[in-house]
Amino acid sequence: MKTDLIIIGSGPGGYRAAEHAAKNGLQVVIFEREQAGGTCLNCGCIPTKSFCHAASLEHKDYAQALTHKNEVVEQLRAGVEQLMTMPGITFVRGTASFKDAETVVCNGNEYTAPHIIIATGSKPKLPPFVKNVQAGDCHHELHEKGGPAIVTSTELLDCDHIPQQLVIIGAGVIGMEFAGIFNAFGTHVTVIEFLKECLPAIDSDIAKRLRKSMEKSGIDFYMQAAVQQITEEGVTFERKGKTETLPADVVLIATGRQPNIEGLNLETANIAFDRQGIKVDPETLEVIRTVNEATSPNSSDVPHIYAIGDVNGQMLLAHAATMQGIKVVNSILQKEDRIRLDIMPAAVFTTPEVAGVGLTEDQCKEQGIEYVCKKGFYRANGKALAMNETDGILKLITTPLTPDGGGTIIGCHVMGAHAADIVQEVAVLMNFNATVEQLRDIVHIHPTLGEILQTTAESF
Ligand SMILES: Cc1cc2nc3c(=O)[nH]c(=O)nc-3n(C[C@H](O)[C@H](O)[C@H](O)COP(=O)(O)OP(=O)(O)OC[C@H]3O[C@@H](n4cnc5c(N)ncnc54)[C@H](O)[C@@H]3O)c2cc1C
Repeated sequence: MKTDLIIIGSGPGGYRAAEHAAKNGLQVVIFEREQAGGTCLNCGCIPTKSFCHAASLEHKDYAQALTHKNEVVEQLRAGVEQLMTMPGITFVRGTASFKDAETVVCNGNEYTAPHIIIATGSKPKLPPFVKNVQAGDCHHELHEKGGPAIVTSTELLDCDHIPQQLVIIGAGVIGMEFAGIFNAFGTHVTVIEFLKECLPAIDSDIAKRLRKSMEKSGIDFYMQAAVQQITEEGVTFERKGKTETLPADVVLIATGRQPNIEGLNLETANIAFDRQGIKVDPETLEVIRTVNEATSPNSSDVPHIYAIGDVNGQMLLAHAATMQGIKVVNSILQKEDRIRLDIMPAAVFTTPEVAGVGLTEDQCKEQGIEYVCKKGFYRANGKALAMNETDGILKLITTPLTPDGGGTIIGCHVMGAHAADIVQEVAVLMNFNATVEQLRDIVHIHPTLGEILQTTAESF
């Protein structure tokens, strides 16, 4: 079958790209080997946020939370499945792989297109000490012998009971979010992390404050600790020259994600990849071809292959996948846009919430960029006091202010209630290269948490 655009994977990268392409008149074939909606909808953003909400309620009911989570996921998945029946889209269930750089095979049928988007996402990465242990459900073999069940985020989202002792290996975004959720449901949560601080991509000051705040809420952290093995006795790790074993009934492996590239036959299409994912040109998201010249001497014959979302390892975020896909489709349509993939806000839905956009202070220092950073505090904001949400800080970063200008906003990092919403405002301003002076002059509703941003701007 010949079509205009082939998309492999129907996560937030793939299905939104398909929708955008079809709305703009392209014929699209999209392949999905599991469930429509990908990781985000089925075992990522949506189910975790559904649990985060349930965990924040005064009256917590785990069974109800699980049912609600499943209902939300099913409802949204049905929506994506419906969307994939729109005119212009052919949704094919099955595992797709390359036959060559122009041809994709699925269920024994061949499909060709001048443009192919790989949007196959990622899966949990298992560290060496669990290589021989099959991550399974909460009734794992080791568990049946009286030891802990070893799970990834996917299985933990379907756990039918509240664990008593949950040990989380890895203090990245996934580990921290699950720590918050299960701590709120009454589980004794311990986080073991190899690095010195949690959330390495986040402003280090904010990451430390978050860890301290989560410690106060009852979560135990063992930083700079190297896990050696998981046995019937629990999780054994080495820290400061000492070996300890922590008992657990569930162990969550949250040590990162790896790209879904196995079985795609990338070699046959000369697509370069490594352990991080498919290599792309960061501007165009076109894949890097290993022997481009040799296979296609006439460059006009080279079909354009792109890799978007988690599979390219650039930014493991649902909105990054979506916007990368839309940008690629625009470029196929030769349609100009103003999508700035370099301004990528991100949030961690812990309690308190953490979010950021742009450069951190650490990055400015590492890259030798001159900057000014001012802080604002939730405890000085009327709405935060009224909400009893005084544990929070905002850091606003700009270029140096000079007599003839400067002060361009280059970053904002927040810990506190609704951090993501506050950071979103800054992301908008950064898309328009706004300065701190312009921010100062924008009227903010009173009383709102957004006023923390404005008062911080006034302190420059
Ligand atoms: C627990 C958890 C919480 C998260 N929370 C957030 C959050 O709050 N906010 C946020 O922005 N991000 C969050 N993420 C990350 C987010 O889920 C991913 O960044 C996003 O799903 C990536 O989208 P994608 O389209 O690249 O890939 P995916 O969503 O992984 O979709 C890829 C799809 O491709 C299919 N596929 C793979 N190979 C083939 C093949 N050969 N043939 C056919 N189909 C194939 C897969 O079955 C899958 O459905 C979270 C992730 C996890 C695990």
